[in-house]
This record gives sequence, structure tokens and C-alpha cells, in this order.
Amino acid sequence: MTDNKTKISGPVRVRFAPSPTGYLHVGGARTAIYNELLRRSLGGTFFLRIEDTDRQRSDAAMIEQIESGLRWLGIDWDGDSHLQSTGFERHKAAAEKLLAEGKAYHCFVTPEELDEARSKATETSGAIRYRDVFDRPTREEAERRAANGEPYAIRFPLGDEDVVVHDLVRGDVEFKKEVLDDFVILRSDGSPTYHLSVVCDDLEMGITHVLRGEDHLSNTPKHIGLFMALAGEVPAFGHLPMILGDDRKRLSKRTGAASAEEFREQGMLPQALYNYLALLGWSPGDDREILSKDEMIEAFTVERLGKSASIFDKDKLAWMSSQYILNTPLEDLRPHLVPFLAEVGLEDADESRLAPALELHQSRAKTLRELAGFMVPYFRDQLTYDVEACKKFLKRPHTPGLLDELAARYESLEEFNVETTEAELRELATAHEVGAGQIIHPTRMALSASAKGPPLFDLVVCVGQQEGVRHLRQFATFLRENAPEEG
Ligand code: GLU
Repeated sequence: MTDNKTKISGPVRVRFAPSPTGYLHVGGARTAIYNELLRRSLGGTFFLRIEDTDRQRSDAAMIEQIESGLRWLGIDWDGDSHLQSTGFERHKAAAEKLLAEGKAYHCFVTPEELDEARSKATETSGAIRYRDVFDRPTREEAERRAANGEPYAIRFPLGDEDVVVHDLVRGDVEFKKEVLDDFVILRSDGSPTYHLSVVCDDLEMGITHVLRGEDHLSNTPKHIGLFMALAGEVPAFGHLPMILGDDRKRLSKRTGAASAEEFREQGMLPQALYNYLALLGWSPGDDREILSKDEMIEAFTVERLGKSASIFDKDKLAWMSSQYILNTPLEDLRPHLVPFLAEVGLEDADESRLAPALELHQSRAKTLRELAGFMVPYFRDQLTYDVEACKKFLKRPHTPGLLDELAARYESLEEFNVETTEAELRELATAHEVGAGQIIHPTRMALSASAKGPPLFDLVVCVGQQEGVRHLRQFATFLRENAPEEG
């Protein structure tokens, strides 16, 4: 264990300790990322510990969900994951040891007595401190009552002195003794509480640095008390600020996507989400925004973790996602793209046509779902044109004729490439004394059923000679059939 006031040096032993809630919250994912980066930058061990203390709520599917979310994000922990519940006997033994050593005490107060004291206090001052209301039994009395079979919890005393948390992120955080209170470590049914289990497992795993969410900061004085009582020393703590939504409240599913799974379903690349989350509360010390994992490992220091809460900026994430889609080689993109291609029925699309179309659109997609959607027109025999979107072409009676002529020219081209297709189109415009735009815009619509897209002649070549000619003719027919009545 380290003195948490000194600069960190490795090897470290860290952990990510999620409760199995059924999904991997992005806040949790970010905590996992920082633990992983710390472990990779300094060497050591990174554990995954599933805190299934609330056994009713935890099931195998929930655990699998968290693990698969982490795996998808590319977060690697060392060895197998650990289930907190498998250590309950060990945790219980620790409570009994503290009791035997006089560092914890028997608590015979029943839930009813506690409730009564609390409701009385609500009428007067508000909250109560257990230690102000209930006397600790003497050892003799406690042993007698326990021997008589009276149920008891084991309580740990806290509040005799102020506690200072030397936090790696927030600096020194002082807790006055008046706000601290004795707390239960083993319930009367013999089950350990979260506080006891966390500390026992951190000790068992030899954790040197606890990097976790700020929502646990108020638990830390309790944990420090237990560490000191059980081992005489404490790990270093660093509490990470919360991630907030647009409404400045803690990011939650109620106000939009909040789990790694949701971003996966939207079609984000995991590397993009990893990069985005890593920079949401940490800076590499310069203005780089796109960093590979190796670059993050190289630059990572706990000193550059931020203290203040971060707002989750969906637009920034979308930008980052588009950058990753653009810069990821197609063969690395493909495995992630498969489910989205399947969604639009293109899982078996002809590779020789799919690959160039994907490349042409890589610079335009914010998500993999969008990229797969862009592929659809390339693989349809007949496109569906929208009358409303084609209004301006419908108003120009000469357009169908121009498109038919272009189709004929393209059909007889021996070399079908960006240069030849552009030259043909421009020649046609000159021959009819119309601006090239009058042919360019309907051609784009004809080939993609869209007014926007990649540079036109790249699109023409990508669609292909035969298919392009067919679409030009089909669109000319569509325009004729939908042309407004004369007069
Ligand atoms: N299980 C806790 C949670 O999911 C984390 C506890 C810890 O990291 O110490 O919030």
C-alpha cells in the first residue's frame, strides 16, 4: 500500500467493482477506463470484482452484460472476474475478529427501536446519530445477551475523531467527527454489509489505489476506519466526479443513452466511446483529442484527472465517432459493421461493390448504422423516389430527355471512370446549352434517391455502369409519370 500523498509509482493493484445493475453505465465504464489506464501505465494488476452483495438483484445475465460491455469497449482486466458474494464467510470472519478484538461491538437495537428514535428525531431536529441515542452495551452484558440467543448486529464505531481523506483527485477532504457515526458491518442475519465486503476484498486483493465514483466519497471515512482496524494502513483513494446529462443531473437512462450498450446499438465504434470517455475528466496534458489506447497509456497520470463534474456532450461524441469511422481501415471496421449491414439486409452483399461504396461514405457517417444505411441504394434494382424531394426536377420538362441521353452516353462508354463520366456529362450540357448543374442534380437523385452524398462522379463510378444507366432511365420514367399536367 502507498502513502496517498506521494506521487504514484507502480506496480499498482487496482480494481473496477461494479454492482450488477443490468447494464454498464458510462460513468462506470469511465471508472474502468481510468483504472485500466493506471494499471497499463504503471504495471501491476487490474481486477474486475462484481459486487453482488444485493444477491436478489444480481443474476448471471446481469453479470454477463457488464462483462460483455467491458469487453466490447476493449477493457481488459487481469484473470477471471471475482464475485464478491463468494467471500461472505471471509467477510463475516473479519467482523467477528473485530468484535473479538473490541474494535467493533454487539448491537442489540431492533429495527423498530431504530425507527422509533428516527421518527422522534424527525419531529424535533431531523436526523439522528446512532451513537448519540443508543448506549454501547458493556462487553459482559453483550456476551450474556448473545449467549442467551438474542439477535445482534455487529457495529463499527466511527466519530471519535475527524477523518481526512487524502484524495488523489480532490486533495484533502475533511469529515468532521460530528458527521460520522457508528455503522453496521454484519447484519443480525449474519450477512456482511457493503462497507465490510468492499474493505475485506480490497485487502484480500492487495488493492493499492481505489479509483471510484465520487458518490462513494461519503463512504470513505467508514472504509478508512475499517482498513485501519483490520490492517493498520489504507490504500490511496481517488474519487472521480460525476458525469452529468444536458439537464445537469447525473446522467441517467431517463434523459437519453447512458449505457455502453446503448451506444453500441446506435452504432458507435467502441474505440470512439473509449476515447471520448477517457477525455471526459482527464486530459493528456496537450490539446490532442483523438488518442489511441497506447497514446493514452503513455500520457496517463492521476494528477491530470479533473475535479469538476463533466457534461456528457452527445455532439462531441458523434464527432469523435465520425472521426474514428473515417480513420479506421475498412478491414477493422468490418466486424463492427456486420450487425448493421444485416439490419438493412446486406450481410451477404457482393464485396467487390460493397467495399468501394463503404470507402466512399466513410467520411460521411457518424455511426456504423448510418454507414450501413448509406449502402442501401447501391444494392437496390429499383430506387424509390420521393415526389416532394423531386419537385424541382418535375418542373423542368427537359430533364427526363437529358437523363435518357446521359444514360445512352454512359452505356456506350468503354472506360467508365471519374474522368470519362464527368466529360460525358459536361459535353451533354454544352450540346444542349444548359448549365451542368441541371444534369448533375437529377443524376445524383437518380443514382442515390438523395440530394446529398459524396462527389457526384465518385458516386457514378461506385454505382457502376450498368446499374447507373438503369437508374437514370428509371428516374427519367418516374419524372415523366409524375410530371404536373400541362397548362
Ligand atoms: N459497487 C460500487 C458501485 O457500483 C463501487 C464500490 C467501489 O468501487 O468501492 O458503485
